[in-house]
This record gives sequence, C-alpha cells and structure tokens, in this order.
Amino acid sequence: MPLVRTRFSPSPTGSLHLGGAHTALFNWLFARHHLGVFILRIEDTDRERSEERYVQEILDALIWLGLNWDEGPHRQSQRLHLYREYIQKLLEVGAAYCCDCPPADLEARRQAALAKGEKPRYDGHCRDRRLKLGPRTAVRFRTPQTGTTIWRDLIKGPIAFDNQELDDLVLTRADGLPTYNFAVVVDDITMEVTHVIRGDDHIPNTPRQLLIYEALKATPPQFAHMPLILGKDRGKLSKRHGALSILAYLEMGFLPEALVNYLARLGWSHGDQEIFTRGELMQYFSLEQVTKAAGEFDLDKLRWLNSHYIKEMPTPELARLLKYYLAPLGITDPDPAYLTRVVPTLKARSKTMVVMAEKAGFFFRDPRPYDENAVNKFLTPQTTPMLKEIFRRLEGLAEVSEEALNELFNDLAAQTGLKMINLAQPVRVALTGQTASPGLFDIINILGKKETLKRINNALSFIQT
Ligand code: GLU
Repeated sequence: MPLVRTRFSPSPTGSLHLGGAHTALFNWLFARHHLGVFILRIEDTDRERSEERYVQEILDALIWLGLNWDEGPHRQSQRLHLYREYIQKLLEVGAAYCCDCPPADLEARRQAALAKGEKPRYDGHCRDRRLKLGPRTAVRFRTPQTGTTIWRDLIKGPIAFDNQELDDLVLTRADGLPTYNFAVVVDDITMEVTHVIRGDDHIPNTPRQLLIYEALKATPPQFAHMPLILGKDRGKLSKRHGALSILAYLEMGFLPEALVNYLARLGWSHGDQEIFTRGELMQYFSLEQVTKAAGEFDLDKLRWLNSHYIKEMPTPELARLLKYYLAPLGITDPDPAYLTRVVPTLKARSKTMVVMAEKAGFFFRDPRPYDENAVNKFLTPQTTPMLKEIFRRLEGLAEVSEEALNELFNDLAAQTGLKMINLAQPVRVALTGQTASPGLFDIINILGKKETLKRINNALSFIQT
C-alpha cells in the first residue's frame, strides 16, 4: 500500500476555530494511524483576505493542540510558478481556455440570467474564441457539458454530480492568481496527497476538482468529507456555543488533551469509550467509524473531559500551568514549592484552569472582601467567642499538623457539643473569604500558623466594626 499522505490546508483569513481544528485532527490521526505523513499547507492566494497574523495564530493553535506536521508549512503564494506550469498543460490539451470578459459584463449577464429565473452561470462567451494568454486574461476550465462525475466518498458513500450543473470555472484570474479549486488540485498532485479529508461543505467543489484531475490525467486522491460541527440547538455554531478561536479555549483554561479528546469523539466513535489517550486515538482512528451526520458542540462535555485531564495531570506540570493562569489575577511569580502544595487541594475541584486560579487566589492574598452571604452566616457576634477560642488553641499548637488539627477540633466539638461544620465554617470564611473551599486542615497547613492566626484576627476585627 502506498504511504498515506494527508494535508491540512487552512486559509489564513481568520483564526483557527473548532471546525478547522476538527479537520486538522482527523487528518493528523489518519496519517498517524497509518504511519503516514501529515502536511501543512497555507492557502494564502486570496491576498485581500489573508493576513500574516492569522498564519501565526493557526500555527500556534496546532502546536498547542500537539498536531505536529511532517512537511510544510507550504504556502500557495510561493508556488505560483507551479500553477502557471499546470495552466500551460491544460491550455495545451484544450481543457482550458482564456477569457477576457470584463467583470462588469459578467455581472450584468449574471443579473440578466437571475432576472429570467435562470441559474447564474458563465455563458461560455469565450469558450471558442481561441484567445491567447495575455497579462489580463483569466483562464477557465472547459467543463464537459455532458456526463456525470462520480466518486466513492470514504465517509459519505457514493456521490454523483451532473457535469451539466457545473459551469466553466475560473482557474486563474486576470491578475494571474489561481482560484481555490485549481490551486488545491495542483498542490494535492505535487504533494502526492493520497487522502483529502475535509469538511462536507466542500462536497460541491469535489466534482470540479475531479474533472481537473481527469484533464491532467492525474490519479485523484481518495476523498472523505467530514460532518460539520453544529451548535447545541443544531443551528450554526455561535460565539456563545463554541465558535471561538482555538486559542480562546487555552485562555478559558482548557487543556489541549481535553480538546483533542473532545474533538476526536465529535463525529467519530470507538465502541462507547469516551476517554482516550493520544496513543489510543492514533491506534483506533478509522474513517469507517466517522458518522455522516453533523455533531453537536457540547461545552459541558468538554468541561467534564477537562476536569478529568486536570485530575490526571502530574502536580509539578499542573503547578507550572497554574502559574500562567494566576498572572492575570495579579499573582505573579508565586513560589514554586508553595504552588506545588496548593495544586493538589484544587485538582479535583476545578473544571478549568481559570476556575482553579480563581479558587487558588486566597492562598496568595488576603481573602478580604469576604463573600457577603458567608459573612451574614458565619462572621457574626454569635460566632465570635468560638473563633476566639479556636484562635487561642491554634496559637498554643507547636505545629499545625493534620493530626494536631484533628485533635484540636475534635476536642472542641466534644466540649461544646457543636458539630464540626459549625466550628469549621467561620474559620473557613476567615481564611478563604468563602463558604466552599478545599479541606480546612489542608488550608491551615499550607497557609501556616502565622498567616492563619493573622487571618482569624482580621475576621474578628471585621466582626467588631
Ligand atoms: N483552504 C480550504 C479551507 O480552508 C481548504 C479546503 C480543502 O481542504 O480542500 O476551507
């Protein structure tokens, strides 16, 4: 079997979104599964809409997701000589012709067709004029006017288009730049791509591309058109539901492992397994298991996977990552050893790294202002005597070990008849500003005796004012 070669070929006219990342991932997985080659190609011939910053953003997003490429990034803008060469071939065999119809005329004819209720298509004005290629001539494909173009799509099954439905598409424009359908064919031929895996919105382009392969007497790759990603209500993905750039998910505190796992399961399955390591994905991935229908984006499921990967991540790695998310909260340069002690208390409680950073805040700075509800319930004149007593007993401890704290609170519960929760909550609010937090003894342990006493004292002063 020939080596599998896939490609991801984004146009740098915007950031990489979920749909693009989904396509990139399936191409990457298919190549990795077959020990093949994954090519990255930047389709930047649309000069007005392409921007260099998007090229960089797309590369950054792919690197963040861990979708490493073996060849490229190639750029169409640096391959113009190849398109010229292939245009010559098509002109020589009569499969293409030059066209000098001015854009204004084309538009007028288009409008006239529309007014007559006809489908607007090129009317073949230049088809038989035998014009020579000049500096201002476009080149069009001489689309066969009869017959059918058929392919067996690896995901959708057999698909057929009547050639009659396709008009003579422009291959190179008057400015000499190739159009998408033409450049893609030349690139896929010269890069020896074996499998084109892309969104099913490209299905109408495929018969046009197949006809160009035929005219060039080149063997086409196999095509696999992937289902699109829809919003939760099966509408278009909206900004609120996932239509964000991939790097926005990084900023929202998602781990790349979670996003990769999530996207892999969107439109593909392997039994009812939900959680996959990257190695498992590479091992199991196959186009046969890709669904025909679109998948719905589900942020809750992504959050669920994210919390799984947060729990799985080794503490030192997570600590390094948390540092990045603490910085926007004004917590810069935290002590690495301290951070490593904080992380395990929050691992199981955080669905995103942003949430983890927010929850970690009190470890690094004063918890005031306290949460209002927490104050009303637990920092009151009624709780003052107990807080004072806890302060006194803590002050007397030689060290704030788990064992010592257990003993302290158990004794107090026994002596006062109060439940542990009633004893713990005022202290929790004093230390963290909130009613919910990691285990109290862990917190006291990490903050240390001095800081703990200082915070209880602050809470006592606060109640008095
Ligand atoms: N540049 C095209 C896009 O971004 C790629 C289409 C293809 O894979 O052929 O949609």
